[in-house]
Amino acid sequence: MHKDLKLFTELAEFLISEEENNPVAIPIDTKILYETIDIELGDEPTIDDDFKETLKDIIKSTPKTASKAFFNQLFGGRISRATLGDLLAVMLNNSMYTYKVAGVQVGIEKVLLQKICERIGYGNNSDGTLAPGGSMCNYMAMLMARDAFDANARNEGVSRKMIAYTSETSHYSVTKNASFVGIGRHQVRSVKTDDHGKLLIEDLESQIQNDIKNGYHPFFVNATAGTTVLGAFDDVKGISKICKTHNLWLHLDGAYCGSVIFSNQYKHLVDGIELTDSFSLNAHKMLGTPLGCSIIVTNDKKHLYQSFSNDADYLYQTDDDAFNLGKTSLQCGRRNDALKLWTLWKSVGNFGLEKIVDHQFHLANVARDYIKSNSDYTLYSFDDSISVCFNYKGISAKTLCTKLYEHSKLMVGYGSFRDDTFVRLVTINTLVEEKDMISFFKTLEDFVDSEDL
Ligand SMILES: *Cc1c(COP(=O)(O)O)cnc(C)c1O
Repeated sequence: MHKDLKLFTELAEFLISEEENNPVAIPIDTKILYETIDIELGDEPTIDDDFKETLKDIIKSTPKTASKAFFNQLFGGRISRATLGDLLAVMLNNSMYTYKVAGVQVGIEKVLLQKICERIGYGNNSDGTLAPGGSMCNYMAMLMARDAFDANARNEGVSRKMIAYTSETSHYSVTKNASFVGIGRHQVRSVKTDDHGKLLIEDLESQIQNDIKNGYHPFFVNATAGTTVLGAFDDVKGISKICKTHNLWLHLDGAYCGSVIFSNQYKHLVDGIELTDSFSLNAHKMLGTPLGCSIIVTNDKKHLYQSFSNDADYLYQTDDDAFNLGKTSLQCGRRNDALKLWTLWKSVGNFGLEKIVDHQFHLANVARDYIKSNSDYTLYSFDDSISVCFNYKGISAKTLCTKLYEHSKLMVGYGSFRDDTFVRLVTINTLVEEKDMISFFKTLEDFVDSEDL
């Protein structure tokens, strides 16, 4: 192990220098991937020097998500204290299902969950778990809602037309999950949105009324804190009123921007969050931990047990159930995703998490101000969003983003809302400073000039 730890340090240093010197890796066309880089597997072992060189080649060619030229996704950057925690979790290699096997790591996960529940104003019965991704958190929420609505569904299956509601701009996992849950994709209603991509409450209400009239059974509403394209926040309070009236489960999908709960300045964007039945967030998005760190909490832990516990005598042999986390998780064996958020949180404190979140909004403001002050740009996004959507000189966003990538200049993606397609700049990398934000635009402008786009 000592030898490989040394090698790891060397490779990690190499990666960091690559991120600085070649922030966008040269893309390899899939047609020539296997000829370009030695990733085939064979019968013979590889000698150490070749092994190291191959690993370096792989590092060189892998897209650099922690560089200051990466704005492509809803994650990016690297916060070293969080990465440290994840590296430790790999070395420790616990599975989180029992206290016997994970010990203090269980305590660490429980502390995280408890702090998040407290922060959003859930009561004493609240609890949560970590899942392999925000999509799976949404899946768990829908499952708990299904079982809360129909206690027989777990054993007998779904027998009625159960209807779920989510906005047309919400994450695609909501529809996908409806098939896993057994209610079927066609039972997911797409609720209209306003010009900012926020769920329209009147449309929600009228679709619910309509479904009830037709003898269907509404059971679940998904609201979003930070929609995937525009970064819009649904009105949780308003939606909650409707959910209470019709007795529907309200889940808040905060995968992208749910971490605003850590900011005094921005937590108002999820006003009413304490009224939800479940809430999820991806710490690997706004909080900058390594992938994945997806957390779901629910106001009443009985739902977690109702939907996810199975008796397994071979597994649960010691300790009380509250510390045997396998009783409330989707998986059986489960990676320790909690430690990386804990090492970050422990080292920077609540104030540090707040700074991380606030900085992203600050960068978005810097970017929006730049765009507003330059008539070659058209802005499509709104205040209080860290997705800054724009077009430049009327150039097709798809062409621009693709060419910027092919020429190893920047990694940035594009998105659509209604009839517009635009570049979507995501200001989620907290290592980015104001000057890097400005140089993003300068790089883009110089590139357009030089390529005559
Ligand atoms: C990213 C995202 C998800 C999915 O999270 P994964 O971890 O990629 O599964 C769900 N909802 C929203 C709003 C997201 O932005």
